[in-house]
This record gives sequence, structure tokens and C-alpha cells, in this order.
Amino acid sequence: MQHALIDIEEKVESGVSLSLADGLALYRTPDIHTLGRLARKQKERKSGNKVFYVLNRYINSTNVCFAACKFCSFAADEFKEPGRVFRMTADQVFEKALETGTNFNQIHIVGGHDPRQLSLDYWLPLMRRFKEALPHVQLSLFTAAEIEYMARRHRLGFPEIVKTLKDAGLDNVNGGAAEILAEETRKKICPNKVSSENWIAIHEELHRQGVASNATMLYGHVESLEDRLDHMIRLRESQARVHGFNAFIPLAFHPDGNEMSDCGWTSGLDDIRTFAVARLMLDNFDHIKAYWMIQGLKVCQVALQFGADDMDGTHGSTDREMIYHSSGTQSGQYVDDREFRRLIEGAGYVPVRRNSTYDEFPYDWAPPELELERVLVEA
Ligand code: SF4
Repeated sequence: MQHALIDIEEKVESGVSLSLADGLALYRTPDIHTLGRLARKQKERKSGNKVFYVLNRYINSTNVCFAACKFCSFAADEFKEPGRVFRMTADQVFEKALETGTNFNQIHIVGGHDPRQLSLDYWLPLMRRFKEALPHVQLSLFTAAEIEYMARRHRLGFPEIVKTLKDAGLDNVNGGAAEILAEETRKKICPNKVSSENWIAIHEELHRQGVASNATMLYGHVESLEDRLDHMIRLRESQARVHGFNAFIPLAFHPDGNEMSDCGWTSGLDDIRTFAVARLMLDNFDHIKAYWMIQGLKVCQVALQFGADDMDGTHGSTDREMIYHSSGTQSGQYVDDREFRRLIEGAGYVPVRRNSTYDEFPYDWAPPELELERVLVEA
């Protein structure tokens, strides 16, 4: 084993956080097997033999957006390309979530910066309606970019907007819009989006008020390895200031149909290394998520041997994810929970059903019968 890896293993064993230089050594080592062993050991320290998944519904509520991120294939300009625009009413979002029953534990919704939808007038009544009809379902809504947009629109500070959303039932904020936090690179790929400083400030405010969140990183485009590690270290430092991130989710860049197509696809080895490096760098994060929609089910199963301990959600069988499907993902739209369980067991771990905040459920848990009947009648 390389000397650098021996030193890193000693640091990890004694609970010392890894430096950017350590991260570079991990990214560059040809000894992928040792990298995997170290990451797997760290995963098992955090979550033992468990690997998590959630029964959820996934909805993109609008693709109208004026932020014009260069890596985005999803957004549509309402005036220049009206044929591509979709925008769901609040009733449509509610009905969509219930389309395939009520036996799910999370509703995950994200959309663009759409002036006609991204406002408290639209979201607060819808959130309350969900909470009343489906008290067993956690609301995993928005990214920090959407929260910043609403704060500006309603002239609220971050503490006020977070309190307002929390009071309406927000349980968890999605990890998107982090992209790459290093400012110079961020300016090149998403100059109009929430700044790194505000992305972190919003998540810290959520955590201060007891709302959980996740954090993503978009990799495999114009960023350097130093940018990736700087991103992980900023997240680790934020978590140390105000604890509240549950999972880190590496998102591989997809090149179809956007301004950055010449960056091409990530490789399987880069994906696997990124899961492992993240597991080792983010020593104060409990979970590293291998989101099947992004890297594909097979790579995500392998990632379970390289530090990941979560495969994200089933989605509903009629859900239509649009963000990654616009940019070329070959993954399907839906995974049966039995498939998650087969893949997790095949990787040598115990599958555990969870909700957004990692409360655990028996695999065959279902909401009470009476509640289910009432929701279906009222819907
Ligand atoms: S990534 Fe999000 S914020 Fe950026 S253009 Fe696409 S929809 Fe808008």
C-alpha cells in the first residue's frame, strides 16, 4: 500500500479529518481496492450493515426558469420556447402525488425559478394540504436556490422565510443548487444562481431551525479535483458549525442538450472514486447517497462497496423525472422497492426503508387503512 494511504488510514482510524492534499492522494491513487476498503470501513462505522432507500414520489412542478445555468437541459424560457414549457397547478401536483396510492414516506419536489409558481401564495396552501391529507409523508421540497428566490420575492430574510416554510410543514430541503461552491468555477457554470455564500447560509439557517437538508455536488464538467475537495471541505465546515445535513449526494454531470455538452460523460471509475473520497472526506456526514437516477442502478450498487449507504427513492410508477432525463440519463423513471432490496442484499448489506430524516420503517409498512380511505375519497 502507498505511504500516503497508510497515513490517511491512520488519520481516519483516529478520527482526524482529511486535508485537501489527502483528498488528492485518494483521487489519484491507482490502488482503487484500498480506496474502497477504507471508504467501506468508514461507511460501516457510520451505518453498520444498513443501506437505506425511501418509498417516495418525485415531481418537477415547473420547468420555467430564467437562471440559465449552462449545464441545464431542463429549463425552458417561456417567451423563446413556449412549446417546451410545463407548469403544474397546485391541484395537479397534489393529484399527481396521490396517483399511485398513499403508501410512501416522502414527497420530493423541485422546479425552476418560475415567477408564476415560485411564491408563498402557491406553496403554503399546498404544503398544508399535503400535511393534512398525508401526515405520514415528509415534505422534501425546494433547493436553496428556490428558497433564496422566494425570500427576495417576498422581501423576507432567511430566518423569516425558513420559519414560514417550516410552520407550513417543510421537513427537509433537497441538496440541489450546490453545484460547485468554488466561486470562480461557479461563475462559469451558473452565474445567475444562488451564491455559494447564500447556499451555505440558507442551509445553516434551516439547520438552526431544525429543518433537515442534504447537499449535492455536480462533478465531471469544468471543475478541478481541487474544486471538488474544496466543496466537500466547505460542507464539512458548515456541518461542524450547525449540524443538520443528512446525506451528501454526488451528481455526475450529464452532457445531452446543454451548453456544456463538450465536457462529455463521467467514467464509472470517476463515479466510484467520488463516492469513496466523499465518504472519507465528509467524516461528519452520516450518509453518502448513490442516487440510481444519476449514475445508474449498477454503478450505484457497486458504490455500496465504496462508501455509499443510500440509494434514494423508488419514485411513483407514473412519475416523470425531467431534469436528468432532459440531459441524457439512461436510467428509468421508477424502481420497485423489491429491486432496491435485491441490489442491496447482493452488495452484502441489509436494506432499510426510511423517510427523509432517516426514521426507519419495516419494509411492508403501510399507512393506516382508515387514513388511506379518507385521502382517496377527499382527493
Ligand atoms: S439548473 Fe435549476 S436554476 Fe439552473 S437553469 Fe436549470 S432549472 Fe434553472
